[in-house]
Formats: sequence, C-alpha cells, structure tokens
Amino acid sequence: MNNFNPSKAIFAIQNTDQNRGVNVSISDSATFYFPTAQDMEATFNGEVEAFLYSRHSNSTNQALSNALAAMEDTEAGIVTGSGMAAITTVILHLCNSGDHLITSHTVYGGSFAFMKNWLKKVNIDVTFVDIINLDEVKAAVKPNTKMIYTETMANPLLNIADLPALADIAHSNNAKLVVDNTFTPMIVTPKHHGADIIIYSLTKFVNGKNDMVGGAILCSKEMFMDLLDLNHGTAMLLGPVMDSLRSSMVLKNLYTLHIRMQQHSKNAIFIAKKLKEKGIKVCYPGLESDKNYKLITTLMNKGYGYGGMIAMDLGTYEKGAEFLKILQEKGVGYLAVSLGYFKTLFSNSGHSTSSEVPTELQEKIGIKPGLTRFSVGLDDDIEATWAEIENTLKEIKLI
Ligand SMILES: *Cc1c(COP(=O)(O)O)cnc(C)c1O
Repeated sequence: MNNFNPSKAIFAIQNTDQNRGVNVSISDSATFYFPTAQDMEATFNGEVEAFLYSRHSNSTNQALSNALAAMEDTEAGIVTGSGMAAITTVILHLCNSGDHLITSHTVYGGSFAFMKNWLKKVNIDVTFVDIINLDEVKAAVKPNTKMIYTETMANPLLNIADLPALADIAHSNNAKLVVDNTFTPMIVTPKHHGADIIIYSLTKFVNGKNDMVGGAILCSKEMFMDLLDLNHGTAMLLGPVMDSLRSSMVLKNLYTLHIRMQQHSKNAIFIAKKLKEKGIKVCYPGLESDKNYKLITTLMNKGYGYGGMIAMDLGTYEKGAEFLKILQEKGVGYLAVSLGYFKTLFSNSGHSTSSEVPTELQEKIGIKPGLTRFSVGLDDDIEATWAEIENTLKEIKLI
C-alpha cells in the first residue's frame, strides 16, 4: 500500500479567482479579447499563455484539469466532453496510420468497439490480449507498437492490471502505457506505477451523480502541449472539449470524492463478503480469496478501500434478470448501466456493458450468462440493504 493522498493534493489547491469566490467562477465566454493585436499575435505564436478561445481552454476547465492532475500527480490535464472523447483523442494522437496498439479483450465496450471496428478506417492495427497474461502481452509486441492500453480494474470480472509490469513492457519497446482509471479513482494512482497517460470517464465515480457525461486526460506538460498544438494537436483539432458549466459541477463533486469512495468501498466489501458466505460466486478484489487481492493491495493508496464494484455469477441470464427486477421493485437500486452513483446500479454484463464482445469470446474470457455487475451505492444502512438482497436471493431460490 502507498501513502499518496490524492484528496489532500486536491484540497491544497486555492481558488485564486479575482472575485474571491470559494468556488471557481463559470467561464461564460467562447472567445476572449486582447488589449492589442500584438498581444493576440503573441498568444497565437505561443510566446504568451492566455485564454484565446474556449475550445482550447478557459479558466473553469483549467481549474478542473489542474485539480484532476493534482489527484493523479501528473503535470497537466485536459477535460473532455465524455470519457470516449478522452480515449479516442489519446489513441488517435499517439498512433498514426500503420501503427499498432495492444489492449485487453475486456476494456469498456465503447473502447472495445472503437479499437476493434473504427480504427480500421485509419489503418491502426490492434491486438486484443488477456491483459493479465503478461507473456501474451509480450508476444503481441511488434516493431510498430506505440501503445499498451489497459484499465486498472476492468469489467466484467474486476481483474486488476499489473501496471508496473505493463509499463516495463511498453517502455522497453518505446511505447506508452495508457491507463483508464475510471473504476478506481483515488484508490490507484497509475502514474506511480509507470502509466504515461491516465484517462477517465468522469461520468462515473468522479462526478458521481449521473447527471452529465465527461472525461479527462492526465499527462505530462509536454504531452499536454502536443495534444493542444494549434497545427497538429488532436485535442485541439477534434474539439473534444468539456463545457465550462459542466466543469464547474464536476469540480465541486471532486471535493467529496474521497468520502464517496470510502463509503462505496465499505458497502461493497460488506455485500461481497455476505454473498460469498452464502455461496454465491463473487468477484471482488478486496476479498482475500480473490485472485486480484494481492496485486491491488500493492498498487493501492491507503484509506479508500477496494472500490464499489462487485461481479457475481447467478447461474443463468433468466435468474439474474429476475433477481434484478425484484431488487429494483424493492428500491435497492436501479437496473441501469453506468456506475459510481449514490444508489446501487446493476446489470447483466454479457447482455449490456459487455455486449460489444462477441458471444464466443464472452465465454472464453469468463463472461458467463448469469454474470451480474453491481455498482454498490452510498447506502447509510448497508445491513438493511443486504437483508433485502438476501431475501430476494431466497425468494428466487438462489440460496
Ligand atoms: C463509461 C466508461 C467509459 C466511457 O465514458 P463516457 O463518459 O461514457 O464516454 C470509458 N471507460 C470506462 C471504464 C467506463 O466505465
């Protein structure tokens, strides 16, 4: 376990807005004026840093980017209109036509579909591997490999990627390690384990309210400058920008993220232990019996637990569907995709969040028909929630 405190890094930032608000003001301008034409020209030439146009940046987006960079201990950050905008921007920036990247079969469905189907359009070659199997990763490296792309914790079985080992493989082949840390904000700081670029869907735990979509790219200052270069920067030219009103919302929610992660984790480990006791096949990296326990324990920062996600095998799709319908009727949570919400969200993995993965491959990588994902909520009385879950499992004869 590591002693880095991402929340402390965020709290250390002072708002220096001229109007002395405790919250950052919402930048309400698409364009910014200059005192003279020469000042404008100097900014265009990169001699002076000033806000010019909001697709590039503005004070609100910069404040959120800086706070996220502090959380991830990176030099810089860019906030985007969605997690997919962050992912596609980074991939298209680092890989040219004719290049190759390595990723996992189990990345987020949208990322999987983009890499499997869309990247063909621009002749970027992708090898999908079992990212846990380092020999398979090594064997996939080619002379034109530019990137290893992984998630710290991935659907559907919540496997943890061995970030230091993947960083070694990437760096010894002159490639970058890009890590989507959406499931484990604060819990894992990928930069400390060798990641070059960290990506978020802010839509999930970071914002935590399911009222917006957003994303982020956290990286070095050099990479940041390159992504925003006026002539070839992908974050500049594809225009994946986040709206400043949304940025201000996410920034305020970021200040409660540490408390929420602690509560998500506390509730999830409680439910995971109970399910296991009842003989349900459950994946939760915080269970000592889980195959990911050892690795996540070495990677994690102290004090945030093992996260809010649980996967369980309920046998068949039909049983799982019945279970979730009843749980929703009882108010335990919602049958909905997404995660990191204050109420519990649940779905059948193979028929929703992993449905982009072809059925044959689903079987191979362990997406069983009854595999069900929970994003455990912030419930104050988790024992009462468990009682509802336990009763439901009994009602439909799963225990
Ligand atoms: C949701 C999600 C994304 C995509 O983010 P959007 O904000 O929906 O575009 C990417 N990666 C992971 C792990 C996700 O859960």
